[in-house]
Amino acid sequence: MGEIVLKGVTKSFGAVSVIPPLDLTIANGEFVVFVGPSGCGKSTLLRLIAGLEDVSSGVIEIDGKDATAIPPAHRGLAMVFQSYALYPHMTVRNNIAFPLKMARLDKATIDRKVEAAAGVLNLTPYLDRRPGQLSGGQRQRVAIGRAIVREPAAFLFDEPLSNLDAALRVNMRIEISELHSSLATTMIYVTHDQVEAMTMADKIVVLNAGRIEQVGSPLELYSRPRNRFVAGFIGSPR
Ligand code: ADP
Ligand code: MG
Repeated sequence: MGEIVLKGVTKSFGAVSVIPPLDLTIANGEFVVFVGPSGCGKSTLLRLIAGLEDVSSGVIEIDGKDATAIPPAHRGLAMVFQSYALYPHMTVRNNIAFPLKMARLDKATIDRKVEAAAGVLNLTPYLDRRPGQLSGGQRQRVAIGRAIVREPAAFLFDEPLSNLDAALRVNMRIEISELHSSLATTMIYVTHDQVEAMTMADKIVVLNAGRIEQVGSPLELYSRPRNRFVAGFIGSPR
């Protein structure tokens, strides 16, 4: 579970081509980071994989099955956004439980899964609070908890830390990496921050105007960048 293969995927909005034909294989359990400047198509690519946008052409396979006709809720993927998208009137417990209630699981199962996720994310003391009573980092953990309980084949993160201050970003980076180690689930992580890419990724996909400039491990990209764009992006800390 968790292999994602893109074959000749393209995306246009009207007459504007945002993703030219793109091929990419993400192995089960990999932590893959999409990096590139603002507007290069990172979010679009993630939304195509999630099914929030339809491909213009090409195929996206999830675990060997063509997913392009499968609606987002049935792709077995969980998306985590930077704007937590929590329900402000619901407690942390109910926010995390929400997808399980939608799936009509029984209460005992829901409680067990919510408490397990809260334990992993250090949210146990906050289960009865509402999002407004939490810090930014805690809110982001609730959003991740809501993804975890669905036991997805892959997690899709779209710049999840960009609303957090620098110190918290470093902590959350470590927490997400630890979560990846313990769950061993595929994670695709979008960022424009090369430090995040270098420290978190098994594999980095460098995007430029919707095109893949290079795919490789952080070390490969750092030591053998294919061109000036990659070198400039990976080599220069901001
Ligand atoms: P990134 O996440 O890398 O900043 P995006 O994927 O959001 O980039 O956007 C890539 C390009 O596609 C941008 O030029 C953006 O304006 C355009 N785009 C994204 N979504 C839409 C849309 N719904 N309609 C028209 N253009 C869009
Ligand atoms: Mg984006």
